[in-house]
Amino acid sequence: MIEKINDITYSILNDLKELNEYIYNNPELGNEEFKSSKAHIELLKKYGFQVEEEYLGIKTGFKAYYKSKKEGPAISYLSEYDALPKIGHGCGHNLLGTTSTGAAIVLKHLLDDIGGTVVVFGTPAEETNGAKVKMVEEGAFEGIDVAMLAHPSSTYSKSGTSLAMEAIQFTFKGKASHAASDPDKGINALDAVIMTFNSINALREHILPSARIHGIIREGGKAANIVPDLAIAQFYVRTSRKAYLQKLTEKVKNCARGAALATGASLQISNYELGYDDLVTNETLSEIFTKNLKSQGVQNPDNIKLTFGSVDMGNVSHVCPAIHPYFGIHGDDSIAAHTEEFRDATLTDKAYENMIITINALVNTGVQVIQNKDLLEKIREEFNASKN
Ligand SMILES: [Zn+2]
Ligand SMILES: [Zn+2]
Repeated sequence: MIEKINDITYSILNDLKELNEYIYNNPELGNEEFKSSKAHIELLKKYGFQVEEEYLGIKTGFKAYYKSKKEGPAISYLSEYDALPKIGHGCGHNLLGTTSTGAAIVLKHLLDDIGGTVVVFGTPAEETNGAKVKMVEEGAFEGIDVAMLAHPSSTYSKSGTSLAMEAIQFTFKGKASHAASDPDKGINALDAVIMTFNSINALREHILPSARIHGIIREGGKAANIVPDLAIAQFYVRTSRKAYLQKLTEKVKNCARGAALATGASLQISNYELGYDDLVTNETLSEIFTKNLKSQGVQNPDNIKLTFGSVDMGNVSHVCPAIHPYFGIHGDDSIAAHTEEFRDATLTDKAYENMIITINALVNTGVQVIQNKDLLEKIREEFNASKN
């Protein structure tokens, strides 16, 4: 089967290269990916997909699908296409999206024979306000059997974990006064922010080693001779498990509450970005995908990379069996993601060579899930057990 899949992948390769290069040349920030989402949609329509544009009211989101006449499982691939400020596609989402959309098109070619449905979710703004969060909340994955994407990286590594994350903002309001002549009339909101940082630093000694808390001061006053009446701090709180995130976030909030009490400033707590859930890899699905890479000669695709980031695929993995592996595009460990070097690596022959291998593996995994009832049963059992 993999040879047949490989032939189909080669037959659409020019279209995929064009899509990848077009998105590379037109980088768009999260929720502004109008050109990029349109390019995906046009290509999917060309190959006979039905498309729901502005899916769930998300302007640059879409759902594309093809349902064969034969009943069968629904395989989904998730396309990302948002870029970073200034650098453009430093995270390689041009290639990520092309790989997912490519896999869907190739699988569609086989669907009338094997049955089932293939779905592509166009999911904007992974780097900021991930659209997958809303899609999960609105039930987009009901009736979907598996969800897959593969992220470009320096080397191959299998789907692992990512941190659950909450983005909290503390807005302190105090009272302005002349800092020298009327200090007693003022309430210093900046002091509240500084105390919050100090309390969080004390808290740090008593948190689990896998947790991360990091923040900045967004607003800290206007002039040194005015007691700051407004100060704003933003933090990311990250943990390896969702349940601990709630506990730790509450402790971080208490640091701010204590600072408000101590200074007399008022405190407003809000979320400045959407929170992400931790990624729960479906190991059964992951193993099949990894085998499909190995059978094409990929060395050690089951290496595991420890990552401390957060991805919105995490939210998907709590409602649908999912994998979020990485595929190598340059093999140079010194090139980090979110850099210009990484961005430019997404256009190289080496990147395309590995994109083809990854598409073949994603498609063959889809074929196996459709054709092998026992496998799907095992995937579901593992998923249900992980929820308990
Ligand atoms: Zn990124
Ligand atoms: Zn990314």
